[in-house]
Amino acid sequence: MTQFTPYWWQNQPQYRNTEVPPTKADCVVVGAGFTGLSAALTLAQAGRDVVVLDSQAIGFGASTRNGGMLGSGHKVSVADAKKHYGSDIAAQLHCEANGSLDFTKSLIIDHKINCDLQASGRLRTAWTPQDYSAMAQANRSLQKIEPFAARMIKPNAMTEHINTPLYFGGLLYEGHACVQPRKLHYGLLQLALDAGVKVFGDQPAHSVKPRGSGFCITTKNQSIDCEQVLMATNGYTQSRVSKFLARRVLPVPSFIIVTEELGKDQVQALLPGGHCMVETRQRFCYYRPTPCGKRIMLGARAALHAITPAQSLPILQSKLIEIFPSLKNTKMSHCWTGFTGFSFSKLPNIGSNNGIFHALGYCGNGVAMAPYLGHKAALKMLHPQEQHSVFEQTPLQSRSYHHGSPWYMPAASAWYQTKDWWDNRQRQQALNQTRRP
Ligand SMILES: Cc1cc2nc3c(=O)[nH]c(=O)nc-3n(C[C@H](O)[C@H](O)[C@H](O)COP(=O)(O)OP(=O)(O)OC[C@H]3O[C@@H](n4cnc5c(N)ncnc54)[C@H](O)[C@@H]3O)c2cc1C
Repeated sequence: MTQFTPYWWQNQPQYRNTEVPPTKADCVVVGAGFTGLSAALTLAQAGRDVVVLDSQAIGFGASTRNGGMLGSGHKVSVADAKKHYGSDIAAQLHCEANGSLDFTKSLIIDHKINCDLQASGRLRTAWTPQDYSAMAQANRSLQKIEPFAARMIKPNAMTEHINTPLYFGGLLYEGHACVQPRKLHYGLLQLALDAGVKVFGDQPAHSVKPRGSGFCITTKNQSIDCEQVLMATNGYTQSRVSKFLARRVLPVPSFIIVTEELGKDQVQALLPGGHCMVETRQRFCYYRPTPCGKRIMLGARAALHAITPAQSLPILQSKLIEIFPSLKNTKMSHCWTGFTGFSFSKLPNIGSNNGIFHALGYCGNGVAMAPYLGHKAALKMLHPQEQHSVFEQTPLQSRSYHHGSPWYMPAASAWYQTKDWWDNRQRQQALNQTRRP
């Protein structure tokens, strides 16, 4: 029987704080995911009295539901970044994306966080020959800005990395890694608690209002007065708490399945490179071996609007079989969903509105970036006059049609289906050419 809860949550400890939250603090952080906990840790290390509130059990959000792929990416190409922000910012975006990977890897290694960190590398697989050329060009431009460990894999060398004829080569990011995300979250939580942070689950912030020179947060039973507030709610942002952020961050669901145990030999035969895999197609799949090496995890945007994990299961299963036909009769042990937070600029942002700080908009790339930007947001709160990150210069945008509820997502799904159709057409033409005598 498939379980509709995250595979990562199996046999993991659940932190609960049975105390009543205090009525005063220096800083309140709303959201206890990677962003909120990392920010809280930095604030506490600087001597601040910090309270973290989460509306659900601690570890409910995307931080423990993700694919555990630790990478440096963001979703904007150098060309687009140059067009919208200029060459300097485009260069800094690339350098800080690399910096976020180094930051989170060091956080894990320096603090000995036991989260099954593996130096797996990540292979971005080309869905069309055009994707392969575009990736090669993008890699060349980025290497000129700041070199990093990545190399193109030619189509005929792909069998060393993956056992499927589906892709037209790829780009291997050798410095990328993978983790068990729930364990990373728990390790970060322990660090924050050890630094004196008070963390409370099942304590939704209902409102954040100015009071005196600071703010008053109302929760279900009480209120907390504080000097500073950080919203770290990403894809779970609610408009009743922040209309400003809900208008600027779109909740987009992602869905994941994990196979039953296949055994190390079969997983190794299908994924000989042992990498995290991410496709270039519009509605891409991402997949990897689980830390035990005996199962395969696959994620995809089964829909752009919220459907149940049970509805997503056959869609994800068909994607897995498309990649690995030999898994046709394999059962899925787990299937779940979670919300990513998309910004309209496709870049994350740290900033403030009416004195309330925020760090969010990771667009599905937050395992390295969210702990990093949580830390940077805390530095901003400690030293507001200084600039700490280029992501202060990627302001959140709003759209006239978006008021918090993404009612237009079914239409967006249709648009992406059309783009997929176009890509598949290009792909078929390329396949026909290679087969021509
Ligand atoms: C299925 C899935 C797969 C993903 N895979 C990857 C991957 O492989 N690699 C990668 O880099 N990224 C991945 N991501 C993205 C990554 O997980 C996120 O970007 C990151 O975890 C965001 O962390 P966060 O702390 O900002 O938000 P979250 O971890 O989502 O935490 C936000 C928290 O805010 C709380 N909250 C909301 N409103 C309130 C309120 N009013 N009061 C109190 N608390 C509130 C929520 O309960 C939630 O716990 C994936 C995401 C999903 C959903």
